[in-house]
Amino acid sequence: MFHRIGLALILLAGLVLPAAAQTGLPALPHPAGVRLYVLDCGTIISNLPENFGLTKDEAGNTNFSDPCFLVMHPKGILLFDTGLPDSHVGRPIYEDMMGREGILKFTTLTGELANIGVTPAMITWLAISHSHWDHVGNADAFAGSTWLARKAEYDFMFGPSANKQALPNYSALEHAPHIRFIDGDYDVFDDGSVVLLSTPGHSPGHQSLYVKLAHTGGVVISGDLYHYSAERRLGRVPPREQGGLTPASRRKVEDFLKANHAQLWIGHAIDWYATAIKAPGWYD
Ligand SMILES: [Zn+2]
Repeated sequence: MFHRIGLALILLAGLVLPAAAQTGLPALPHPAGVRLYVLDCGTIISNLPENFGLTKDEAGNTNFSDPCFLVMHPKGILLFDTGLPDSHVGRPIYEDMMGREGILKFTTLTGELANIGVTPAMITWLAISHSHWDHVGNADAFAGSTWLARKAEYDFMFGPSANKQALPNYSALEHAPHIRFIDGDYDVFDDGSVVLLSTPGHSPGHQSLYVKLAHTGGVVISGDLYHYSAERRLGRVPPREQGGLTPASRRKVEDFLKANHAQLWIGHAIDWYATAIKAPGWYD
């Protein structure tokens, strides 16, 4: 009797829980509103604050957090940036130098996604702030999603200026089956809640991400418009970007923050990251 009931329950569970049972992951949340997750996509060991117009004292902790961001919206899921390559997990820093900076990675992006019930195939939209190596490390895993791309960045990624070390991690995007080229500020779900803001300068097609949340309020994720909190506080621009479009993009975002009563998250700023709620927790 006991066994029959047990068997019936197992069969029933198989019938009513297909999504969780098939993937072996926690059940995918279906929030009524917008949710924003901060995913651990690695750390960059760096000590070159002068490249960002700062002294070591001004910068404080000179290492960089390197998060990815996931937006869960009733109409789909957006992944913003893919971080440092999962292949670096557990390897010593000296093996993983990118120039004079080292990669430190404890967890995979696919693992971070799995913690919240998401597989790469469930990602509706892929967007990257830009194509530098620390933001495209796992991009190929999402080549089946619809990539919201900017032509200027696309040309930068696949033209002669492409970073040869990073290219193998995003090469599948060149001929991805679903590319949507976007211009200006792009409203992803057509309801004003998730907007890709055009902020060129750090790279030709650099963009930031605005997310409007019911409880948290508006958030702009900077991408590499800023790296250190001190750049914003002290009004410093990286020397190599002073003659370009970064100052205008920063003014645009600062105006946007004021107009929308939004806060700025600088993903690379380790002082912000230390206090951020990380996945599987979320902001809503
Ligand atoms: Zn970066």
